[in-house]
Amino acid sequence: MAIRNIRKDEDPILRKKSKVVMEIDERVLTLLDDMADTMYDAEGVGLAAPQVGVLKRVIVVDIGYGLFEVINPEIVEEEGEQIGEEGCLSLPGKNGDVCRPRKITVAGLNRKGEKIRIQGEDLMARALCHEIDHLNGVLFTDLIVEEEE
Ligand code: ZN
Repeated sequence: MAIRNIRKDEDPILRKKSKVVMEIDERVLTLLDDMADTMYDAEGVGLAAPQVGVLKRVIVVDIGYGLFEVINPEIVEEEGEQIGEEGCLSLPGKNGDVCRPRKITVAGLNRKGEKIRIQGEDLMARALCHEIDHLNGVLFTDLIVEEEE
């Protein structure tokens, strides 16, 4: 277990697309452990592997109800919408309102390679969407909605 360096701002790795994990080996398990450590150390609610410089489709989320680890996450259902403020450990000092589904279902694998489904509402839906975007090189600042005058 170790705290890894969080990639920030204009780091080009944040704009790359992450690869599907084909085999959950020791490296992936260590990555999951280190990502959780790094997220808690930075007091974030989520972290995606590219944020620690690894282009693998792996995310961790903890909005205060325990740790969720998802390998190869995919949004399989979404419902409604919500606009709310986001920030990012990779973009310190930046905040902005982003529109997300109010409720989503994410399918993926857990660390044992078992298929899992996670349903998230409100902040959980927002956090999952934000982290999955990182796997596609998308940052929340791309999605900020303009305030109506
Ligand atoms: Zn982020």
